[in-house]
Amino acid sequence: MARNAKTEKSYSSFFSKDIAIDLGTANTLIWVKGQGIMINEPSIVAKTVNSDKVVAVGNEAKEMLGKTHHNLMTIRPLKDGVIADFQMADGMIQGFIRKMHLSRIARPRMVICIPSGVTPVEQRAVRESAERANAREVHLIEEPVAAAIGIGLDIAKPVGSMIVDVGGGTTEIAVIALNGIVTKEAIRVAGDEMDDAIIDWFHNEHKLEIGHRTAESIKCSVGAGTSNEKTKVVIKGRDLVTGIPKTISVPPDEIRKALSDTLFLIISAIKRALERTPPELSSDILDRGIILTGGGSLLKGLDDILREETNLPVHVAEEPLTSVVFGTGMVLEHIKEYAAVLL
Ligand code: ADP
Ligand code: MG
Repeated sequence: MARNAKTEKSYSSFFSKDIAIDLGTANTLIWVKGQGIMINEPSIVAKTVNSDKVVAVGNEAKEMLGKTHHNLMTIRPLKDGVIADFQMADGMIQGFIRKMHLSRIARPRMVICIPSGVTPVEQRAVRESAERANAREVHLIEEPVAAAIGIGLDIAKPVGSMIVDVGGGTTEIAVIALNGIVTKEAIRVAGDEMDDAIIDWFHNEHKLEIGHRTAESIKCSVGAGTSNEKTKVVIKGRDLVTGIPKTISVPPDEIRKALSDTLFLIISAIKRALERTPPELSSDILDRGIILTGGGSLLKGLDDILREETNLPVHVAEEPLTSVVFGTGMVLEHIKEYAAVLL
């Protein structure tokens, strides 16, 4: 019996596990063919300073954040949307794929979703990274296309859809029709920039120093809504004048003000994309509206502000954090059907 179980296990590891990867600036997700999402971890690498050796990726690396010593540091290799650090991006891809415990014998097919702003050089780097991780076949797909498929849009039709993916490092805006991107606009302003804007606001307006984690949690809990919420937001930080820890409370409205410049940049990019969209497709968008996805689309009030600014219907995807990996997974599952969307 025990022997059978062992044989079965070793047979199963002979079969290749084809995988789909959403290589996001904030989070990396991996879909295994026939199984679904198996990895959903932050896109963070911990490395040694003197020898650039990767010591941890994903959750383990995140735990080390802010607790590193002189010879250990954590980085986000894709922070600004493009591959900011090739060597570490490679280390991260290798690290995540190792976590999958793929068979070394049966080489997998990989479909990898990359931000639509990446250059051909960066595309090649991702391909080579996957090949080094033993891929038999590597296919790349652009993020807005994967998001659209993940949301369930039929992108093969001659009907235009506008997808706005607000991630960590980039906001990607695309009008998609007939399996391709007709108009695109990518800016390096998204969730991270919102965190920075909150940090700056408290620094300038309250002389209070707050950390990135605090800023992100204020963003996620308060957002940019215009609700009549009267409950004040309690913020802990360090007084810039005295250097002593201090707690202050502010009305939720202040967070909306803190975010207004960042949101203005995102909305301006959406307007630019709308202006560049051919009229036939514009009329489709007028009927179908704008679809928001990516973690940043969870920001309270973002949809209302966008509706107000564009007079268009605005919908938020049901699962904004997983629509891209879901779409990339669909392409992997039905690769022949989706040949037209691969790069
Ligand atoms: P990427 O695709 O670039 O990896 P994600 O789509 O995973 O990015 O989104 C990550 C971003 O979403 C982060 O900046 C995170 O702070 C933000 N985010 C997650 N949940 C919320 C929320 N409830 N409100 C506002 N922002 C959020
Ligand atoms: Mg993403």
